Formats: sequence, structure tokens, C-alpha cells
Amino acid sequence: MYRLAVAQLDSCAEQMGLDSNVWERLRTPQRAHVVSFPFRRDDYDTVETVFGYRVQHLLTMGPTKGGIRYDVDVDLGEVTALAIWMTWKCAIMELPFGGAKGGVRIDPRALSRSEVQRITRRFTSEIIPVIGPDRDIPAPDLGTDQQVMAWIMDTYSQQKGYAVPGVVTGKPIQLGGSEGRSEATGRGVIICASEACREYGLHFPESRVVVQGFGNVGRAAAELADERGARVVAISDVGGGVYNANGLDLEALASWSDEHGELQGFPGADGVTNHEILELPCDILIPAAIQNQITELNAHELDCKLVVEGANGPTTLEADAILADRGIIVVPDILANAGGVTVSYFEWVQGLAQFFWSEQEVNEKLERLMVKAFQAVHYMAKERGVSLRSAAMMLGVERVKEAKRTRGVFP
Ligand code: NAD
Repeated sequence: MYRLAVAQLDSCAEQMGLDSNVWERLRTPQRAHVVSFPFRRDDYDTVETVFGYRVQHLLTMGPTKGGIRYDVDVDLGEVTALAIWMTWKCAIMELPFGGAKGGVRIDPRALSRSEVQRITRRFTSEIIPVIGPDRDIPAPDLGTDQQVMAWIMDTYSQQKGYAVPGVVTGKPIQLGGSEGRSEATGRGVIICASEACREYGLHFPESRVVVQGFGNVGRAAAELADERGARVVAISDVGGGVYNANGLDLEALASWSDEHGELQGFPGADGVTNHEILELPCDILIPAAIQNQITELNAHELDCKLVVEGANGPTTLEADAILADRGIIVVPDILANAGGVTVSYFEWVQGLAQFFWSEQEVNEKLERLMVKAFQAVHYMAKERGVSLRSAAMMLGVERVKEAKRTRGVFP
């Protein structure tokens, strides 16, 4: 993933003729904090060694911002790539942050809730020197949720001796979380999908949508697509998915998943694998699970008109080129899933002001910023004759370059 992030930067830098000093500087993160720590299992006898990371890519524009993920594949390269993408994402949305990301190399599904809590608290105490409301503000990502953010906030606050809600975003509402944060990423994905439909001659309310992933992003995206009149025909979680060409009953599906802990076996739909779901006929494909799902092996088989990337890094470089050749439009992750960090920014602002907005206000502000960012990227893509991904990168890199240039080099 790190190679993908750097290759994307290199290709964009070349196309836009980026100053070689800035180009070189942006290829590596400013800070990378790697920790290992002991973790006691519930049986009390077993103590495992766990690895964790917090990477801050760019400290030029303000504090850094980015999620924390719990996943077995987490490593320094993956977290660094995600931190780099956060930089572009914040710059595209004109948020006063640099990019960061964190992660712990565990399988949260194999752990009890109390084990996850112990890991979270110990990991937080390991990264306390590098995080803080004015320094670096974590948020939820793959495998983490509101509760994990509440544990981080509590651990940080215990160390400081007073409550510091601003150290994380994506908190529960009662701890200073924002209305609309939990669906924000999915909402941003659907706003981008609707805008892309308008620009590329599709009618969103008549479209068929396939979603890979039924977590924070995928579930909200599917529900909002349904709410806006589209037909969600397939959706999957880690164990596989369900497909009904006439459309899925999402309310019944959500109850089934909550009750059974998986989507499989849902009546009135056919089972599909996570591989098959990407190749189903549809208008809009939303990969919203994990990275590297659309590759050179399956990019020729996709049967959609539009890919809107809810997940980070779901499309490899080779696949991107194949999709471009086939005329499939890709709305890139750094634009499509930026709704989450945008409402995280709103949460941070509301916390600083101690003045909280209604859900409607949050959603309206998000819609306004997402549409503005989509239009800026689309305009640049048309003007320079490049893909939406290249245009999004150029917009982000250009804004970062300007900030770096005006700050100058110390000393
Ligand atoms: P999540 O843990 O809430 O949900 C992940 C979903 O993907 C679950 O349905 C899970 O079953 C499924 N999944 C996990 N492993 C899989 C696999 N190997 N194959 C297929 N499906 C698998 O995570 P999330 O917060 O929804 O994040 C999903 C993606 O969106 C990640 O790439 C994340 O970085 C990105 N993202 C999340 C946010 C956010 O606000 N949560 C913001 C921006 C981007």
C-alpha cells in the first residue's frame, strides 16, 4: 500500500510538474511512532506481544488527523499509505489538518470486548506523547468504533487529570461526539455518487447499486442509497454477501445481520462470495470494506459504469488503468470517503466552541462541502484531461505545496 501511495504521488507530481524539493519531502512521513506492548488474554495466563503504529505524514497545515484501525494486516507501510491519503483528503476538503493514521496488528473479531478494551487503553498510553487535541487527533476506522474512541478519550484524560474530549473524534454523542458522524463517510460516498451520476449521464434514483462491506461505511452508504431511491441489489460482509436483482430489503437485512452476526442465510436473496460481488451487473459499485479488491485479475470483469471508493485503496494502480481503458469512471477514495474526516472536523470545531449543531445542520454543511470538493475535482479533471483520481491528487498536492512554500524551510 505504501508503494501504491508513493506511485500515485509520483505520477501526479510528474503530470503537474511539481517542485522536486516538495515532491521528495511528501514521499516520506514526518513522524512514525512504532510500539510493541504486552497484552494479557482473558485466560490471564497468556501474555501476547502486540504491535502498534501511529504515523503523521505532514505537520504543515495544523494538527494531524486520521483513523485508528484494528486488523491482522496492519503494518508500518499500510499505516503510512493511509496517512499520506489523509493528507490529500484533508487538503481536497480544505480542512486545517495534515494526514495521520494509526493501527494495531490484531484481529478484533477473535478478541472479547474486555480484551479489545485492554489493548485500546495500553496502545493509547503508548502513543500519548504524540497525540492530543492540538497535535494529532485519532478517529474510528476499520475494526474500531465509537466505544474504542471513548476508551481512548478516557485513557488520555486519566493521564492528564481532566476530561479531554477533543483528543479523538467519532466519539459517542454524550462525550461530545457530533450528530451525523457515524453515517458521515457513507453519506459522503452517496453525495459523490449522485454528483458523478449527474455529470456522467446516469440517473441516481434509477441506478442499481452493489456494496462490498457492511460496516460503518458500507451499511450507511447502502441505507442512504436506498433512501435516495436507488436499488441496492447486493451487499457483503467479511463472510460473503447476498444478491437479489430486484433489490434487497435493507431494513430486514440489517435486523438479520444484527441477530445472526452475518449476512449469509438472509432469506429472499442468493449467496455470493466477496469475489463474485464485485462482478455483478450494476450501475454503481461501492467497495467499502478493505484495500486491494479491484486488481488486474478482476478489473476486466467488472460490470458497472461507476466505481465510488468507500474503502481506502480498494483499486490497484494496474486495475485503475484497466478501468480507465474500459470507460468505467472511478470516484477516488481521497474524495469519495472524505465525508468522515469532514464531520470529524465539525466535531472538533463544535468541541472547541462548546456549541453543538443539529443533525440537519451537520448534514447540510457536509453536503455543501462534498459537492464543492467534487465539483472542484471534476472541473480540474476536465480542464487537464485527466482522471478524477489524478485531478483529486493534483488539487490536494497543489494546496499542500502552497502551504509548504509560504511557511518556508526551518531554519
Ligand atoms: P468496519 O470495520 O466498520 O466495516 C468493515 C466491513 O468490511 C465489515 O462489514 C466487514 O465484515 C467487512 N470486511 C472485513 N474484512 C473483509 C474482507 N477481507 N473481505 C470483505 N469484507 C471484509 O470498517 P469501516 O469503518 O466501515 O471501514 C471500511 C473501509 O472504509 C476501510 O477501508 C476504511 O479505511 C475506510 N474508511 C472508513 C472511514 C470511517 O469513518 N469509518 C472513513 C474513511 C474511510
